[in-house]
Amino acid sequence: MRLANLANRCAQCIPMAFLALLACPVCATPALALDRNAFTFTRYDLAVRIEPEQERLSIRGKITLRNDSPTPQKTAVLQISSSLQWRAIRLAGTTPADDKQLAYTAIGYPSDIDHTGALNQAVVNLPAEVPPQGTVDLNVAYEGNVHRDATRLTRLALPADLATRSDWDALGTHGGAMRGLGYVAWYPVSLEAVSLSDGNAVFAAIAAWKGRHTESQLKASFTLITPVGAQYRAICNAPGSGATGVCEYASLGNTVPAFAVGEYDSSSKANSVVDYFSDDAGAAAVLSENVEDLALKVRAIFSAFNSKLELVELPEAGSAPWESGTMLFLPFGGDRNAHRDAILAHSLGHTVFASNRPWLAEGVASLVELLWQRQQSATATVPAQLSRLLPPLVEAEKSLDAASAAPLVRATDDVTLRLKSLAVLTMLRDMIGEEKLLAALKQYRAADDHDPSYLQSVIAKQTTRDLEWLFDDWIYRERGLPDFRIESASPRITLNGTYIVAVSLENIGTAGAEVPVIIHTDKGDVQQRLEVRAKSKAVVRIEVPFLPLQVIVNDGSIPESDISNNRMDVKVDLH
Ligand SMILES: [Zn+2]
Repeated sequence: MRLANLANRCAQCIPMAFLALLACPVCATPALALDRNAFTFTRYDLAVRIEPEQERLSIRGKITLRNDSPTPQKTAVLQISSSLQWRAIRLAGTTPADDKQLAYTAIGYPSDIDHTGALNQAVVNLPAEVPPQGTVDLNVAYEGNVHRDATRLTRLALPADLATRSDWDALGTHGGAMRGLGYVAWYPVSLEAVSLSDGNAVFAAIAAWKGRHTESQLKASFTLITPVGAQYRAICNAPGSGATGVCEYASLGNTVPAFAVGEYDSSSKANSVVDYFSDDAGAAAVLSENVEDLALKVRAIFSAFNSKLELVELPEAGSAPWESGTMLFLPFGGDRNAHRDAILAHSLGHTVFASNRPWLAEGVASLVELLWQRQQSATATVPAQLSRLLPPLVEAEKSLDAASAAPLVRATDDVTLRLKSLAVLTMLRDMIGEEKLLAALKQYRAADDHDPSYLQSVIAKQTTRDLEWLFDDWIYRERGLPDFRIESASPRITLNGTYIVAVSLENIGTAGAEVPVIIHTDKGDVQQRLEVRAKSKAVVRIEVPFLPLQVIVNDGSIPESDISNNRMDVKVDLH
């Protein structure tokens, strides 16, 4: 994921007037007394068979469900993409001969967690109640075709070309590529119906599912039935899967399983691997030159090396790039441009810093992208970029229920992972200095990060400054955002003709921050930083050589819930 992906999200924001015209799929479903969140899918062991010539996907395998509800469960809900059909659901015996066929009813279930805007939901009668914390193993079989389908977006009145750029998942005669939860439900899940017309509901539901499945594992073994003479490969975003065709995911909270199938060749350079269609070697060579060039620039900002960036070619030109850790799925070809360079710079950020904590991995990659952008243009200062990037975070925080929302350290939703992490890291950068922050990040070792306070201890080696409150307000707990208010701005003229403006600030918000205070004069601005804890006041005296006109608090680099109270005119009595 990267910063500019928010543009894609914003493309999904549809004027409310349109939404009112749309039927709500959730309301159309009769209320069933099913607890779709009762079971957690703790393990998947799936054999994935793909026949590109038939455009066919069939999956057989075992799934383990654990009853995480407080009551015994006699019914399990399994949902797959509406383009797939259930073939069998059996209670797994010790041997296949002991499997017991289970009765189930399969019906369409509208939900925008799948690209088709609907799921094929099986309601399974279990032979016996599963007690709380008990588990049940099911052998499942399902199959079907997965075609490009952007129904969930086009019914929001999003133009078809934009919609298919985003929902590019498909399997065709030459292979294809597919992502999991949130795109194509190619492994069974269970979620309450959600609609993209309902604000943030789809993203929140996916984040909640990921939060419950951080310990869940998925193994997918691929078999490709390809035409004689063709050399098809399956490439997936599981670490270390290589060319084995077996992909093992250790945490479905951290990674959305995704794969691509086709006649792929690979080539490797110092900083990157490219997987390209064998008839696209030219485009691959150009792109890999591009990436190597960017990698040098990124490494000049952050000189660590953890892994190579793997670029996987998507078949359809125009498909929106999709990132998963150090892997980036994107169409090759086309001219080098600033937009794609930014996406690549962000993904290269993942290759120089690794962490099993999603917020930190994403935050550092976003920080690297931000610092790279700053090198590209004199106007892309850090505050200028943050002012542009952070508004969606402020919006998201407003709709958050602070009591139940996960703190950054456990966050699974995209906006928090991308933007709050970036905001926190840039605040740390401003408070201790860029050099010291980058030095701390270089000393960070993912293998040593067993405790949420590990990062704090690494940073503490670089500074004597007390940062406990910052980690508490922004990382360990969900405390919302600050809200600075200028109480007063009192100027006085000094004997040598300069001005001292005493600015009294109150933070009426619930998180503290060190905020820039700017005195705007008739000949330029003077800035100082002031730490104002949550529900506290602080005063700063700023000396300016010219006539002070206005005080401005926050240059846009601190996400803040209300910026309408951030300016005050300074009235200097010259008599
Ligand atoms: Zn990222």
